[in-house]
Amino acid sequence: MDRKPLIAGNWKMNGSRASARSLLDGVLQGVQSVKAAEVAVCPPFVYLADVEAMLQGSPVAWGAQNLSPEESGAFTGEIAGSMLNDFNCKYVIVGHSERRTLYGEDDALVAKKYAVALEAGLIPILCIGETLEEREKGITEDVCARQLKAVIDEVGIAKLGEGVIAYEPVWAIGTGKTATPEQAQDVHAFIRSQLATEDQGVADKVRIQYGGSMNAGNAKELLAMADIDGGLIGGASLKAEDFLAICTAAG
Ligand code: PEP
Repeated sequence: MDRKPLIAGNWKMNGSRASARSLLDGVLQGVQSVKAAEVAVCPPFVYLADVEAMLQGSPVAWGAQNLSPEESGAFTGEIAGSMLNDFNCKYVIVGHSERRTLYGEDDALVAKKYAVALEAGLIPILCIGETLEEREKGITEDVCARQLKAVIDEVGIAKLGEGVIAYEPVWAIGTGKTATPEQAQDVHAFIRSQLATEDQGVADKVRIQYGGSMNAGNAKELLAMADIDGGLIGGASLKAEDFLAICTAAG
């Protein structure tokens, strides 16, 4: 199946206006040699205007790290999908484990955000994955299946084909621990098989990124696995050289 890998940088709440600009300068200098992957960055909301201005016309896409499940109204501190459109975002991350654990986002809310993102014309990057405790209990597949089912129930299987899935074992995020290529491949294959039980075409088409301490040193092996279609990159997306090395490894 021809799935172009997507390497997306999740900058989280890092940097400054100045450092965001210099990071993008570095990415833009090296990205021309990235042939086989699509590249995207997800900065903090407040830098989206700068990011749009710098990346317009370049091969690098951009997106946001979160969005409100509401369209507009009295929701202090929230950002609507239509507002992300004002900055020509292509992607939006939904259900990142930090949102789920630190901000209490449950499966139903994540599913609603997925739906709202698509309605706004954005491509949701849906994060799913188990905690260390869940892995040790042997319920990794149950957790991923449950998180996936919530979204399928909300939007229908066909709409899963319009988004991207990121398998992010929570124990590997920001910890320096990475799933082995085989561990990651097993779960990616499981996720694809879950989709295939409902729609083989969607299963074949959807890109499933791996996220969890992917770096310049381990990216090639992970990205070589049959069902790993790119990466969602946290820490290593904050240095242009490291991020570009991952993008190149996708070739
Ligand atoms: C993430 O937060 O999506 C992530 C994968 O982070 P890191 O690469 O730092 O583990």
